[in-house]
Amino acid sequence: MTTLLIHDGAADPLAPTPRTGGVPLVPEGFAWPECGECEGAMQFLAHLPLDTDVVAVFQCQNDPGLCDEWDATGGGNKAFRFAAEGLVPAVVPEEGETRLGAVSALRAERVAADGFAEALDQWADGGGEPRLVQGQLGGAPAWVQGDETPDCPACTAPMAFAAQLEEGHDHATAANFGGGGIGYVFTCGDCREAAFLWQC
Ligand SMILES: [Zn+2]
Ligand SMILES: [Zn+2]
Repeated sequence: MTTLLIHDGAADPLAPTPRTGGVPLVPEGFAWPECGECEGAMQFLAHLPLDTDVVAVFQCQNDPGLCDEWDATGGGNKAFRFAAEGLVPAVVPEEGETRLGAVSALRAERVAADGFAEALDQWADGGGEPRLVQGQLGGAPAWVQGDETPDCPACTAPMAFAAQLEEGHDHATAANFGGGGIGYVFTCGDCREAAFLWQC
């Protein structure tokens, strides 16, 4: 089985369900991440519930392409894994490129296919619009380049693949993964760590 993430229309900016854009839900006292390269406030990309936790993904867009924002450890992006209980809307910084241009709901749809490529084919064969497929939840990453599974910064074990994300269904409001790239989200459940990278 492969679980596709399908664009499902506009979402509330504070929705607790899977979405791209909007406002991150975070623990009390959360500090909005700043870019390790340019020190600007990062852009919030995605809210992804995972079991009893939530993953929040950010990357810098203040100097697109100049902050190593594709790199899991370069300082130009940041992913968090929080316990879902008790999260509150983050305070969005006034300065910097902090929000996507739209809030888009993501619907999980299980497809009897072995891997992302086969699932995409089945989706299209069944009359689904390929541009509405916004990635997958779990399974195995469909790498554009080679395998870049990151190690957990806390326990150093290879992290578990959580999701992959397309830039967005609409070019005007999409994330920037280098122009048609794919973003990859990894986590370590034991350490409550998360990591993000993209390839194009
Ligand atoms: Zn930056
Ligand atoms: Zn770990």
